Amino acid sequence: MININNAVQFQHLLWDRIMQEAHVVVDATCGNGHDLLYLAEHANDGCHLYGIDIQSDAIAKSQELLRHTLKDRRISITFIQGSHELAIEEQISEDSIDLLIFNLGYLPGGNHSIITTCEKTIQALENAIPKLSKQGIITLVVYPGTASGKNEQLCLEEFLSGLDQSKHNVCHWKPLNQRNNPPELYMIQVR
Ligand code: SAM
Repeated sequence: MININNAVQFQHLLWDRIMQEAHVVVDATCGNGHDLLYLAEHANDGCHLYGIDIQSDAIAKSQELLRHTLKDRRISITFIQGSHELAIEEQISEDSIDLLIFNLGYLPGGNHSIITTCEKTIQALENAIPKLSKQGIITLVVYPGTASGKNEQLCLEEFLSGLDQSKHNVCHWKPLNQRNNPPELYMIQVR
């Protein structure tokens, strides 16, 4: 059973359903590779996954974590070291992304000054939305427990609130009775 107050776990409910049929899946902040590992473990044969991160350390850690999962599996993973808004625009050739995920903030155990920014995340979303498949989904975990994470959330929420409701369903999930502003989840679905 998942912990329903945990944003990272809660999004799995949505991912599990999508991964049953997903062909193209993108982790725009693959970090230590935990989210990407989960996706790879739930991917069907033929699924192509992308792991993007701005840091070479993160790419190396993700590659190492996923090495065993890839053995004997008919899935493929492309790792891209670079900023997600550029990687999505220039290096993802498919126009049918079924699931795109962001886990914002900094690399746990890494350099905390290398951190996602609202401007680049919004640019990445603008570049990705036209490439989503019919009923494609984007999930974003934000960390309002720090000042920079809170600012990022407010800026992101303003952008998400302005998305055209005739084209996108946009939702926000948050725990209500937890101390210290735990992570929250945003979801976008193509209508
Ligand atoms: N999904 C990861 C996991 O399961 O281990 C955790 C991701 S961590 C919270 C956030 C990651 O975003 C960091 O690894 C950081 O290097 C990366 N990042 C920061 N800015 C970025 C950008 N502009 N483009 C791509 N990745 C970025």
